[in-house]
Amino acid sequence: MNNHSFPGKGELCQNPECVKWRKINKRNFEKYAQIAEKLFEAYLEQENPYHFFELTKHARKRTVERAINTFQLFGEVVANGYVVGYQPKGKVMIIKGFMKIGKGLYRSLHVPLKIEETDEGLLVRVLTVFDPSYSSHLFDEKLEQRICWCQPHDLDEL
Ligand SMILES: [Zn+2]
Repeated sequence: MNNHSFPGKGELCQNPECVKWRKINKRNFEKYAQIAEKLFEAYLEQENPYHFFELTKHARKRTVERAINTFQLFGEVVANGYVVGYQPKGKVMIIKGFMKIGKGLYRSLHVPLKIEETDEGLLVRVLTVFDPSYSSHLFDEKLEQRICWCQPHDLDEL
């Protein structure tokens, strides 16, 4: 097997760039997860967090393309979501949550967002939204951590 061939299930891509990025991502998550979780909790615990929930133009486009309504995105996905990643460059945290699509059927979504302090409260700005199962080979088995960068992904645009 050459180093750049596609990994099988349960194997990790050995492309040196992917090995490097996995290390960086893991280190960043270990270092910043608690800070990100605290900030995310503080956002949700404030009065009327939905009032402080905004989508960038790009995110708005994605929600339309991906048939996700903003109210559901907040109420189902973000309000019950949890932090699965943090990129210190740009202070972007990635929230994973689930959206109900039918009886007993849920779609997992990743919501990269930024939390900004304003005079009125903590403001969430959603940068994009994607379903990691559409590119599951780029993520670990829990669809939480990215493990491969060999193909482009929405995350690269953040
Ligand atoms: Zn790779």
